[in-house]
Amino acid sequence: MLMLQERQQIVDYGMQLIRSGLTTGSGGNLSILSREDDLIAISPSGINYHDMTIADVVIVDRSGQRVEGELKPSSELGFHLALYSAREDINSIVHTHSVYATTIACLHWEIPAVHYLVAFSGDKVPLAPYATFGSAALADNIIASIGAYNAVLLANHGLVAVGDGMSKAFNTAEEIELVARIYYQAKSIGEPVLVDAEEMKVVSEKFCSYGQQDK
Ligand code: 13P
Ligand code: ZN
Repeated sequence: MLMLQERQQIVDYGMQLIRSGLTTGSGGNLSILSREDDLIAISPSGINYHDMTIADVVIVDRSGQRVEGELKPSSELGFHLALYSAREDINSIVHTHSVYATTIACLHWEIPAVHYLVAFSGDKVPLAPYATFGSAALADNIIASIGAYNAVLLANHGLVAVGDGMSKAFNTAEEIELVARIYYQAKSIGEPVLVDAEEMKVVSEKFCSYGQQDK
C-alpha cells in the first residue's frame, strides 16, 4: 500500500477533527502531499471519520488521477490540488466546518487581529468569496484570497488551514477556531480593540522560535 504513514495520519487527524469539535460526520476533508513521491493522500468523499480506515484513503497524482484506492476522493480535491500548486511551502491541508469560523464566514467578514493567536494564519484570516462546494470556482476563489496566509475563511461554508505538516495545519485550524470564537464573543458585547500591525509583526517573528522548535 502506498503512503502508509500519510494514510494513517489522515485517519488519525480525521478522528481528531471530530474529537475537538472542529467538524461533524463527514464534513471537511484532509490531505497530505508527499513531495518525495509526488503523490497526495486525501480523505475519501462522504465517509464518516469514525468509520474511515487507512484503506479508504485515496492516493492521487498531482493532476488528480487516482493512483490507489477504491473510493472517490474528497469532492474538494480541486482546491487541494490548486493549493499545492500555488504554495511551495505547504504539504498538508485541513478543511473544517468549525462553527465559530463558519459563523464569521457567513457574515462575509474576515477575522482581524483581535487576539495575537491570529498569527497562526498571519495578521488576519482572509475571506474567499462564496462558490459551490467542490467547484473549480471555489478553488479559484481560495487561491485568489489565501495569498501567503495559512488560513482562509470560505464564505457560507467553513475554513481551510494549510501547513508544512499535518500537525501544523491542524493546530492552525484549531487556534483559528478559538480566535473566531473570541471575535464572535467580543463583538457580542462591544467593539474589540485590535492588535496593531507593528505588534503583529513582532508576534509573527516570535512565533518562529516559540516552543521547542529552535532547540
Ligand atoms: P467530502 O466528504 O467530499 O470531502 O466533502 C466534505 C466537504 O466539506 C465539502 O466541502
Ligand atoms: Zn466543506
